Amino acid sequence: MEFEKLKAELVEQEVSLVAVSKTKPVSAILELYEQGQRTFGENRVQELVEKYEEMPKDISWHLIGHLQKNKVKYIAPFVSLIHSADNIKLLRVINKEAAKNDRTIPVLLQIKIAEEDTKYGFDFQELLQLVKSSAFTEFDHLSFHGVMGMATFTDNQEQVREEFNNLANHHQELSSFFDTGVFKIISMGMSGDYQIAIECGSNMVRIGSLLFGARD
Ligand SMILES: *Cc1c(COP(=O)(O)O)cnc(C)c1O
Repeated sequence: MEFEKLKAELVEQEVSLVAVSKTKPVSAILELYEQGQRTFGENRVQELVEKYEEMPKDISWHLIGHLQKNKVKYIAPFVSLIHSADNIKLLRVINKEAAKNDRTIPVLLQIKIAEEDTKYGFDFQELLQLVKSSAFTEFDHLSFHGVMGMATFTDNQEQVREEFNNLANHHQELSSFFDTGVFKIISMGMSGDYQIAIECGSNMVRIGSLLFGARD
């Protein structure tokens, strides 16, 4: 899909675009950069670091894929938003690495909304218990910007809609525990389901193949 067209559609609905550039070469990313796109998402740490080093420094890099604790240190100096904070131990490590770099790292709480076992994320009820406990008071180098989730990979649009609605409700329920001026992002929707996601309240979509073409 043409970038300009998608961008116009999203701007009209006040939805931000993370262009998911995983597996795509720097040349393809630069094409979008030249059209004005500044936010790119990658799901692997090594690829993210390599692209960060090679590309213009006014790009905001988002980590959208599962993050291992031992790799946080590589992205901590520069990452703009981590979408995939999905367990308390990982949050502690991100907080620690942020402190070492003398910065505050913005994170989204990834919540499991899909029925597949393969999708990462907090169990919502467990997360709710955690945020009610003192566990979340120790994070002086994190800022909590909202939630992220991925729907089940299925043709059943009603199921996808229900899962996205659940995430929007979870965001609402969690809001009272965070700074509501900051805890605003609902990151949901990819190439195949972003329109449903927006109807359900998404304000940040992560789109790859629709912009860059299918991945091998
Ligand atoms: C790859 C990926 C996307 C984008 O997927 P497309 O279907 O290519 O738009 C979005 N979110 C995450 C977490 C991904 O890994």
